[in-house]
Amino acid sequence: NNQFLQVKNLKKHFHLGKGEILKAVDGVTFHINKGETFGIVGESGCGKSTAGRTIIGLYDQTDGEVIFNSKNIHKLNQKERFAFHRQMQMIFQDPYASLNPRSTVSEIISEPMEVHGMFSNKQDQLKRVYQLLEDVGLHRDHANRYPHEFSGGQRQRIGIARALALNPEFIIADEPISALDVSVQAQVVNLLKRLQREKGLTYLFIAHDLSMVKQISDRIGVMYLGHLVELTTSHELYQNPMHPYTKALLSAIPIPDPDVEDKRERIILKGEIPSPINPTSGCVFRTRCPVAMEVCGLEKPKWQEVHKQHFVACHLYDNHKTGGQDYSQVAA
Ligand code: SF4
Ligand code: MG
Repeated sequence: NNQFLQVKNLKKHFHLGKGEILKAVDGVTFHINKGETFGIVGESGCGKSTAGRTIIGLYDQTDGEVIFNSKNIHKLNQKERFAFHRQMQMIFQDPYASLNPRSTVSEIISEPMEVHGMFSNKQDQLKRVYQLLEDVGLHRDHANRYPHEFSGGQRQRIGIARALALNPEFIIADEPISALDVSVQAQVVNLLKRLQREKGLTYLFIAHDLSMVKQISDRIGVMYLGHLVELTTSHELYQNPMHPYTKALLSAIPIPDPDVEDKRERIILKGEIPSPINPTSGCVFRTRCPVAMEVCGLEKPKWQEVHKQHFVACHLYDNHKTGGQDYSQVAA
């Protein structure tokens, strides 16, 4: 079974008081194979970070299951949970906020190793710090410096070194490059790819736009208002996007080559993402969907595999509702 991580109908709701419920994650299902990168893409507020934090156990889930290496992580006892934390680590969007400004780089990277009692000998621990710095492209002289002495890209490298300290198998990277200069983004993505090859890592890569996530992900799930609306291989998603929301996201990515005339039609989505507090019935995307139909307000579209390995939740692809016709071009 190469289904290294299985997420089944995962829900994370927050009770805000006065009977209001924020349905940040409202039933997402996917799996991640060992050694691959699974991307989750969506606008801010779609629930992607909450999904990541719930998967890693920073939040208790409201419903559903997370199975990691055949173990249900929300059913672990304290001791098992502690051991499990060695295998799953997180990299955050803002490396500066996640690094203690009063600690040296060496202290920052050593901390998880100390918590887990990885070394009894300080010398061995320091050697490991030097090795980790080298792994992420920093110099061992950096060990005694403080986070503010580094650039954004270097700080993210420190965050990555710390995430690697316990030799994890799985890393959740929550927008690890969004706060970085464009010129630095590719370097960090290349670093993550190299580390994946060298250490056999599996990634969940969370991003708010489709441009970078394409280069790193094997498969991608598109998230909107707490739901996955489409999921397929990275290649297929770009060649044959099916969900109207995915089409809009893709149309917003500029073509990188200035010599190629961009003839694509921009799909501009009107309106804001509706509030995930007490959302309405039917399709979550219907208030912004350029091709919404009557049925979209009445029924939630089913999550269905429309082609091999290509899942989508949209009534355009319910053959029984569209009389068997292929309406897939309607939203093109
Ligand atoms: Fe648009 Fe309807 Fe499909 Fe939702 S189900 S994305 S509203 S066409
Ligand atoms: Mg976020």
